[in-house]
Amino acid sequence: MEMLRDIPCPSCSKPLYQVGPVDFAASIFGRADEIPKIVANEQGDYLKCHHCSMFVLMSRAPAPASGQGLEIHPSRKFFKKIPGEK
Ligand SMILES: [Zn+2]
Repeated sequence: MEMLRDIPCPSCSKPLYQVGPVDFAASIFGRADEIPKIVANEQGDYLKCHHCSMFVLMSRAPAPASGQGLEIHPSRKFFKKIPGEK
């Protein structure tokens, strides 16, 4: 059975999304209906938290299965509004 792990939101510490044990970053894209929507602009990629509505900064990460994935940015920054949007 596949084990899922909750990734906590850097703002509210509630689960932001879940990932499996093997394909950490790619599983974000593989479970599109279970995760919040990713918003991308020229400033970066943001994942909106279901719980606190903050936009969490994400970083691109290589993923074994799909070649491209996302994970929470090491800075663990989050924003009320997406930077650069009016
Ligand atoms: Zn949150």
